[in-house]
Amino acid sequence: MYVATLITAPAGSGLPTATVDALRARWSGGPVRWLAEDLAAEIPLADPPADAADQWAALQAQGIDLAVQPAANRRKRLLLADMDSTMIEQECIDELAVVAGIGPQIAAVTARAMNGELEFESALRERVALLAGLDAAVIAEVLAERITYTPGGRALVATMKAHGATCVLVSGGFTAFTGAVAAHLGFDAHRANLLEVADGRLSGSVAEPILGRAAKREALEELCARHALTPADVLAIGDGANDLDMLEAAGMGIAMHAKPAVAARARLRIHHGDLTAALYLQGYARADFAA
Ligand SMILES: [Mg+2]
Repeated sequence: MYVATLITAPAGSGLPTATVDALRARWSGGPVRWLAEDLAAEIPLADPPADAADQWAALQAQGIDLAVQPAANRRKRLLLADMDSTMIEQECIDELAVVAGIGPQIAAVTARAMNGELEFESALRERVALLAGLDAAVIAEVLAERITYTPGGRALVATMKAHGATCVLVSGGFTAFTGAVAAHLGFDAHRANLLEVADGRLSGSVAEPILGRAAKREALEELCARHALTPADVLAIGDGANDLDMLEAAGMGIAMHAKPAVAARARLRIHHGDLTAALYLQGYARADFAA
């Protein structure tokens, strides 16, 4: 059995019943199950539809995300989430750069690295070097004044934890940010890179080895072993090229408002919904949410 899930943006114009019913009829699906009134619904299917890609494209134009996946084992036991532009709406390094007065220079490198056009590790070293001498106190300033949380993050973490899952923030960013973000959102643990500080100022170095693309996938394997799980039990979510290996290894890998090169390779893509989409894709209804 398969399931088709339709999700739209909470602030959008809603998910029309007629749209859901038309897809159910086209695909000879079972009874529609509304996961959230006017926002998300799922349709049971006997087989994966041949025209799923065409229907996906047509619904994208209406602001609706569509995913088709096997119905079984959708509730995951381990959440591995990227931080920058996934759980928060910014790239922390870009925000530090704005405060340092070199915003555009750094943001251009970040954008290329996240789209897979530059090697992650060397692009990170290059940008951190440009921040040398910046007062370390700006980290707290950036957290307080420039970072905003992607809607649905608390609900995603709280609901998965309420159902027994472990939730880990796995970031190519910095522990100075992941510690605060993980605590705010309720994550069980966080992993990231250490931004080196000397005499209260950024030294321009990042501790080696850098937590990059390969390290995110290694984190998935290590955490599976530690919690006696398999990759099929994992939900990974992220937006950048350094998330791709982790997304592809996970039983459920979601490209969240992802860079084009990442979305093109992902099996599950959320372009319109917020982070609660990751709950709807697991079959949780709004009434099941823990926050
Ligand atoms: Mg990211």
